Amino acid sequence: MVNSSSFSGFDYYNALFFHTKMNAVLLIDPNGIILETNDAFGLSFGYTEDDIVGQHFSVLFSDADKKKDLPEREIRMVLDTGQSFDNNYMVNKDKKLTWVSGESVLVTNDKHQKCILKIIQNIHSQKESEYSIIRLNNFNENILGSILDAVIVIDNDFEILKANRSFTQLFNFSDQEVAKIDFKSFISKFDVNSELYNAISNIFQTSNANSKVQLDIDFAGAEPQTFDISCTILAEEGEQTRVLLIFHDITAQKQVERQREDIMNFVAHEFKNPLTNVMLSIELVDAMLKEKGLSEFNESMQLTRNNARKLNKLIDELYKSTKLISGNFDPERSLFDLDEMMDEAIQSTRQLFKKRAIVKTGTANVSLSADRDKISQVLTNYLTNAIKYSDGNEGIEVSSKIENEIVIVSVKDSGKGIPEKDLPLIFNRFYRAPEAKSSEGLGLGLFLSKQIVAAHGGKTWVESEEGKGSIFFFSLDIATS
Ligand code: ADP
Repeated sequence: MVNSSSFSGFDYYNALFFHTKMNAVLLIDPNGIILETNDAFGLSFGYTEDDIVGQHFSVLFSDADKKKDLPEREIRMVLDTGQSFDNNYMVNKDKKLTWVSGESVLVTNDKHQKCILKIIQNIHSQKESEYSIIRLNNFNENILGSILDAVIVIDNDFEILKANRSFTQLFNFSDQEVAKIDFKSFISKFDVNSELYNAISNIFQTSNANSKVQLDIDFAGAEPQTFDISCTILAEEGEQTRVLLIFHDITAQKQVERQREDIMNFVAHEFKNPLTNVMLSIELVDAMLKEKGLSEFNESMQLTRNNARKLNKLIDELYKSTKLISGNFDPERSLFDLDEMMDEAIQSTRQLFKKRAIVKTGTANVSLSADRDKISQVLTNYLTNAIKYSDGNEGIEVSSKIENEIVIVSVKDSGKGIPEKDLPLIFNRFYRAPEAKSSEGLGLGLFLSKQIVAAHGGKTWVESEEGKGSIFFFSLDIATS
């Protein structure tokens, strides 16, 4: 430490005392009596020279600090060592407490009198932000600790940077163990198709915001549990990218879904045969009645036949949906001309709804290798819906086109359209808009269409405006179709 410098000729004390705005300066005698204060002190803490000069400097200390004997200790320290430093509360004139950072040094004037020069900085706002960061941190830690979902944060080496209590409990790790886990090899035991690994890697490589993966996790000696794992990027400027993983247990939900599937499967199977018999009997009885010339039963026979057909159709749809859901659907692919198939579907819809105009506005001119009957079923669903959910004489436009090796088929109506809030639900199983309840249906048509197209690796979607109409689309990759 050098005690003099080339600047030693300058008038430091006056500059510090009279001209600084942020450094409050006090001159205190060795007994702690305040001799002088500068303007910055008055401005920062509200005292005038008259208020404070002549007082013991302990008035500036909080009661808690006075109890700890801090004023005396500070004086002793400065007199013994020449310097003292502290960070503590200071009492303002209005009794409010302000966080300050102060340094006191021993000074001697030209009459060889010793004094203590105390320089104080107001660090209240820094301290407040420090506290609010600590509070926020505690708050986050408490939330993290109390949520039931297992949560971890990993870096791009798949090292676990943070894990909450639910995670350690779920996998039976101690806090020490969790920090040492190589998450990549740990999760690979469950992530047999590397779906989670690929999703996380993709986030690190492309900075994609997030993705979701479903994973069955086998715990020794227990039933496997199913988790929805959401992966979210945590990227802050200048910091290494991290990924937040939230493991949400959906085992119970899956079980309920499975039970519902089983019931539906059962109902569809068990109803199908008796109903086929009922329909056969209806035809037999009808033939007999006709033979005997009993025409007064014609109307009620027709009603019975219609109802039996309706029931049969509903059970058919239910049956098909359970088959698609249980993953039993494998498209029976054959090469066919898309336009020919579309013409046939249009033709048979026209026969059912004779008064409605269906026009073809574009043709892709392409052959596809796909399950012809099933793709035709998708188009017929779209066409029947377009008619069902639009009134009167509005025409329906059907079109197919190719964009980037993808064939896109669309059905446009000028009907009632779909409210924006319902759009994300429209392809869900059993979903029917409240207004649709008056028309016949189970809410399975679009669900089935989506499953069929998805089984071909394609996509289904809709654009719609309430009151104006809808366009339903499906697309298939030509290369794989
Ligand atoms: P369903 O027609 O048997 O109700 P879908 O799965 O085919 O079942 O359709 C689901 C719901 O989507 C319908 O109930 C209806 O509310 C809505 N929807 C389908 N197609 C259209 C359309 N072209 N215009 C308006 N709403 C439609």
